[in-house]
Amino acid sequence: MSPFTFFFIIQLLITLLPHYPGNGLSPPAKPNIIILFCDDLGYGDLGVYGHPTIRTPNLDRMAAEGMKFTNFYSGSPACTASRYALLTGRYPIRSGFSWVLYPGSERGIHPEEFTLAEGLKQAGYRTACFGKWHLGSTKREFLPLQNGFDEYLGLPYSNDMIPPKHPDIALLRGNDTLELNPDQSLLTARYTEAARSFILRNKDNPFFLYLPYAMPHLPLHPGEAFAGKSARGTYGDVVEEIDWSVGEVLKLLDEQGLSANTLVFFTSDNGPWIIKGEEGGSAGLLRDGKGSTWEGGMREPAIARWPGVIAPGSLQMEQSSTLGLFVAALKLAGVPLPADRVIDGKDISPLLRGEKEHTVANMPFFYYGPHELHAVRQGPWKLHIKTSSQTGKQYFEGKTPLLFNLETDPSEQYELSGQYPEVVGQLMKLVETHKEKVEQEGTFYR
Ligand code: MG
Repeated sequence: MSPFTFFFIIQLLITLLPHYPGNGLSPPAKPNIIILFCDDLGYGDLGVYGHPTIRTPNLDRMAAEGMKFTNFYSGSPACTASRYALLTGRYPIRSGFSWVLYPGSERGIHPEEFTLAEGLKQAGYRTACFGKWHLGSTKREFLPLQNGFDEYLGLPYSNDMIPPKHPDIALLRGNDTLELNPDQSLLTARYTEAARSFILRNKDNPFFLYLPYAMPHLPLHPGEAFAGKSARGTYGDVVEEIDWSVGEVLKLLDEQGLSANTLVFFTSDNGPWIIKGEEGGSAGLLRDGKGSTWEGGMREPAIARWPGVIAPGSLQMEQSSTLGLFVAALKLAGVPLPADRVIDGKDISPLLRGEKEHTVANMPFFYYGPHELHAVRQGPWKLHIKTSSQTGKQYFEGKTPLLFNLETDPSEQYELSGQYPEVVGQLMKLVETHKEKVEQEGTFYR
């Protein structure tokens, strides 16, 4: 064999090597980004997170092909504040959003906020949102098209804010009303179809697709093909339909040869609405649910797939959050973070690549209400300085501070403040420093 032929064969082998982490190849420039965002899905509601009767074969496969997170948090235990955190990378305290917006709420996302969609648009992405917006609807300036999205189809607030208690709810296309009080059993299918169409129309350019499902928020409305099919009742039906929707998106990416250039991230805005009984979901082994800074309110199922960058079957136990997903998405697209404001998230893209040096906690502070810091987490330790629950329960007789080791005790059952006063002291100091810092920064848009 001549040296030339040898060299040629080696070159060919290098070219053919699969793009797995560790081989020194960098991820594709400007990958497509898809965020699939559930409403009130619990940590225990997917097959791959241990639910015994809800069937989620597509999400289970997505985790097998990608990465499953076990310490991933939403930015808030409530819809509006959580969506704000995902789309701005900032703690909801920066905006003053606390609980949720209602149809008549005068507030909405401030025009000065820098959204993920606005950032990705700067990098030449086409952007779309299909689903629940919930960042303001009484003024045009609050709607998705004025906040970085090229396309929108969806309900501007929650699917339970409907007649007779509230005015008619509009299904919007862009800024305009497409229909009033749409049949909710068609929503998941309609959003999925919109997503497929958007992907097909944008397969030759970078795109950002944000798909905030209406479900499994109450009222539960499964599509005809799913109604009555799950062993977990109507709640299971709507989760199984979401699983179908995720499967449709992944299948299309595979068929179109887009998978290796697309980060798909699946998670939820907050924990399950446990006060709704069987109609609400389950946080699995975590305590409490929506409307609480106990783990069940904010720790979410989270699955990422990006063949060639994320190693198949990865398990990610580092603490991370939707705020860090915001930073990672901009970073991957080559968009610098805005320098004129505080961004609270820390880049999670090293975690996606399975890099271990990433030890910075992504979202150590748990807020509930605009100015109410309820808890802090550092490493395995979580300190509650205030607690609340929609159930009205006063766990640990309502006393604070409460200290838990989340690695040995993810269910927050064994209170350790008496045994580790020095850890309590350290975390209290962290709380005070953080409060002072946020106050000084004063970067609020309200
Ligand atoms: Mg929600």
